[in-house]
Amino acid sequence: MHSFDVTIIGAGAAGLFCAGVAGQLGLRVLLIDHSEKVAEKVRIAGGGRCNFTNRELDPRAPQKHFLGENPNFCRSALSRYTPQDFIALVQRHGIPFHEKHKSQLFGDRSSEDFIRMLLAECEAGHVTRWQPCAVRAVHAMNGAYTLETDRGEVKAGAVVIATGGLSIPKIGATDFGYRMARQFGLRIVDPRAALVPLTFEGESWAPYSQLAGLSLPVAIDTGEKKNKIVFHEDLLFTHKGLSGPAVLQISSYWRPGQAIVIDLAPGVNLYEQLRQAKAVSRKLIANELAAFVPSRLADAWVRQDAAWQRPINETTDKALAALALRLSRWELHPSGTEGMRKAEVTAGGVDTRELSSQTMESRQSGLYFIGEVVDVTGWLGGYNFQWAWASGHACAQALAGRRITHQ
Ligand SMILES: Cc1cc2nc3c(=O)[nH]c(=O)nc-3n(C[C@H](O)[C@H](O)[C@H](O)COP(=O)(O)OP(=O)(O)OC[C@H]3O[C@@H](n4cnc5c(N)ncnc54)[C@H](O)[C@@H]3O)c2cc1C
Repeated sequence: MHSFDVTIIGAGAAGLFCAGVAGQLGLRVLLIDHSEKVAEKVRIAGGGRCNFTNRELDPRAPQKHFLGENPNFCRSALSRYTPQDFIALVQRHGIPFHEKHKSQLFGDRSSEDFIRMLLAECEAGHVTRWQPCAVRAVHAMNGAYTLETDRGEVKAGAVVIATGGLSIPKIGATDFGYRMARQFGLRIVDPRAALVPLTFEGESWAPYSQLAGLSLPVAIDTGEKKNKIVFHEDLLFTHKGLSGPAVLQISSYWRPGQAIVIDLAPGVNLYEQLRQAKAVSRKLIANELAAFVPSRLADAWVRQDAAWQRPINETTDKALAALALRLSRWELHPSGTEGMRKAEVTAGGVDTRELSSQTMESRQSGLYFIGEVVDVTGWLGGYNFQWAWASGHACAQALAGRRITHQ
C-alpha cells in the first residue's frame, strides 16, 4: 500500500496550487486526477490567456465580488493570500501579463504559462502525480483515510477534495466532490449553472432573434428594489437569447421565474434627447435612435409599435416617452440558461457551514474542500481563480500545521 501525508483529488487550479504549497511545506503529497491532462479549465480560461486574478478584489468586503449562502466565508482565506501574493509568484516565474478593463489581469502569451508554473511549483514540493487515475472509494478509519484507486490502495492522513464544479462536463467535470460530501454527511447547497448565457423562448423573443451577433454596452440588473446589483458591461445577442459579460454576470444572481432589467442606452436621458430631436428633425424615429444604440437594434426596436415607425416630428411625446422607457428599462423573463454545458462556473456546492473558513477542513476530521466545489462563486474577471489559489493556500498551511501537531 502507498502512503502519503495528504492525498489531493483534482489537479485543477485549486488542487495543483494546494499540492505545490503543501509539498514545499514538507508534506508528502499525492495529487490524483481522472483526466489525462491537468488544469483543463486554466487552459481554456480567459480565451486561452487566463484571467488569473483581479486587482479590485477587496478581502475585507468579499460580498462585493462573491456569492454564496455566506459570502463572508471566503474573507479569511482571501485576506491571507491576496491577488498581490499570486502576482508576486507569477513575476517570480517571469510570466508576462497585462491589465485589462476592471482590473482584470491576463497572461500576455498563453494559459500554458500558468500551467507550467503550477507544475513547477508541484515539482519543487516533490508532489507525486497520478493521472489519469480514478478514485473508486474513500474510507475513513482510525483518524486516517484509505483510498481505492486505479493504481492500488493509498493510505493518507488527510484528503483534500479539489474536483471543482459541474460546468463543462466534456473536459472532465464530475459530481465527485458532492458525492464525497454526502458520503460523510455534509450538506450541499444545490449546484446551479452560473456565469452562463440566458435563453428566451416563444413569440415574444422572435423580434430579437434576428439580432444575433449584435453587441453593445448596457447596464443590467435583477430588477429588485432592495440590494440591487447592477453591472455595466457588454451585452451580446445570440441565437438562443442573450450573452456577453453583462448577462454572464447577472446570470449568477438570476433564479428561474425572476426578471432581468436592461438599460440599452445607459447614461443617456433618452426621452429628453428624442424630444430635442423632435423639435428640429423630420427623420424617422429609428434614424434618430441610431445615435444612441446600434442601428440594427434601433430598426428592430421601432417595429414593436406602429407609433414608433413615423417621422419623429409627427410622433406624440407620449409615444416617445413609452419608447424611451422601454429601451432604458427593458424587462425580460428568461426561460432558462444554456446550462452546465456553457456555464463558466457552478454556483452552490459544499455548504460553507460544514467547513472551517480558516482551514477548509470539514466537520469530518481530515477531510478538506477547496476551490469551486465549495459554495463560493466569484464574479467574472479573475475572482474564481483567486478563490482557487486562496482556498488552496489556506488548506495547505493548515495541513502543514496539522502534521506538526500530529507528530
Ligand atoms: C470557459 C471557462 C473560462 C474560464 N475563465 C476564467 C478566467 O479567466 N478567470 C477565472 O478566475 N475563472 C475562470 N473560469 C472559472 C475557473 O476555471 C474555475 O473557477 C476554476 O478552474 C476552479 O478551480 P478548481 O480547481 O476548483 O476546479 P477545476 O479547475 O475545474 O479542477 C477540477 C479538477 O478535478 C478533476 N476531477 C473532476 N472529477 C474528478 C474525479 N471524479 N476524480 C478525479 N479528478 C476529478 C478535473 O479533471 C479537474 O482537473 C473559467 C471557466 C470556464 C469553464
